[in-house]
Amino acid sequence: MAERKWICDYDGNNLEPCDALSEACSTVALSKRKGVYIPTMSNRKTGEMRQPYAAIKTPVHPDGIIFGFCPFCGTKIYAPAGEQEKPDV
Ligand SMILES: [Zn+2]
Repeated sequence: MAERKWICDYDGNNLEPCDALSEACSTVALSKRKGVYIPTMSNRKTGEMRQPYAAIKTPVHPDGIIFGFCPFCGTKIYAPAGEQEKPDV
């Protein structure tokens, strides 16, 4: 059995979530559902893909609220996206 990943890895561009955050994120289509998700962003100039933050959608905030840190392990995970970047979902 693989060792559990307790802490998120975050380098300012990419979030590699801890297991608790991964498990909280559903793989169901993101557009309408509620809950925690990690959007994939693409830079339109470079085509580079990254996952720079985690966010949560609620009935009050259907567009999502970005976490400034992992709600499970506390790692700081948010960096503002550049102007060229838009969520793919
Ligand atoms: Zn975490």
